[in-house]
Amino acid sequence: MSSLSPVLSHHDRKLQQLYRLIGVPLIHAAALLAFVPYFFTWTGVASAVLGYLLIALLGINIGYHRLLAHRSIGCPKGVERALALLGVLNVQFGPAYWVAIHRRHHQLADAAGDPHTPRNGFWRSHLFFLFPVDDDTDPVRLTTHYAKDLLADPFYAWFEKRERWFLSTILVWPLYFLAGYAIAAIAGDPDPVRMGWSVLVWGVFVRLVVVWHITFAVNSVTHIWGVRSYRTADDSRNNLLVAVLAWGEGWHNNHHAFPRSARHGHAWWQVDATWLVIRLLAAMKIVTINNAGPSAAARRRRHLSRPRRTRR
Ligand SMILES: [Zn+2]
Ligand SMILES: [Zn+2]
Repeated sequence: MSSLSPVLSHHDRKLQQLYRLIGVPLIHAAALLAFVPYFFTWTGVASAVLGYLLIALLGINIGYHRLLAHRSIGCPKGVERALALLGVLNVQFGPAYWVAIHRRHHQLADAAGDPHTPRNGFWRSHLFFLFPVDDDTDPVRLTTHYAKDLLADPFYAWFEKRERWFLSTILVWPLYFLAGYAIAAIAGDPDPVRMGWSVLVWGVFVRLVVVWHITFAVNSVTHIWGVRSYRTADDSRNNLLVAVLAWGEGWHNNHHAFPRSARHGHAWWQVDATWLVIRLLAAMKIVTINNAGPSAAARRRRHLSRPRRTRR
């Protein structure tokens, strides 16, 4: 057991539950403000799109998933932590707990103990695996078992204690308001306060809810609908729509077949925006690619002779 476990006491389990029960509905409600005309500005919409591209792709897909969970790429510690910080801004838990849930999902995919398999119901896999916190999703149990490597780093351990990842995210939110206010003030907009609110509502709450449901669709949709190209012990599927929306993460059957590969799109037409960004970062010598994908022979060995489209 990690030395962190006494700190992540039973108290934290209750605290985590409380944050989820309050935070998830509240952030959804705040996103609904997008339908109030007062909060609409194109700058606000642009801040949401920019966050969806940069914060989600760099933070979750590259930082949390392909780097920290699978180590399919490598980079200097400073870059790794910067990517992890972007990950934190997506309010999908701290790096160690996210990684732990994900590694457990790969280990037990669609079997007993998988934290989010649709075999227990679509909505349970999509959203309701968040509550209640049970033995399959307990932060102490999972992080100490599946994310020891991250907990050994004080930087990642810090975020896990007393839900600091969540509190530090909230502290960033006023900056969105200030950024919107400053942009409007510089542009000579007569109502900079409105612009501040607009960037906060769109850049934080709308972006969060959109990114959440796209990430959750990788857990739910791509284990139900799509094409199975490879033989795996789970129900994972390649889903074009989720792949496009989640910047390549929807080639989920490819990913379960070859989890250490930094590249999720295998066929030339399987667009994997995250992989393209990884290649760009590698060309700029910011990251190194540990695993660029399976060989043609390895793919052939696992490939199903007739890809199956049917629902499980
Ligand atoms: Zn999966
Ligand atoms: Zn994965």
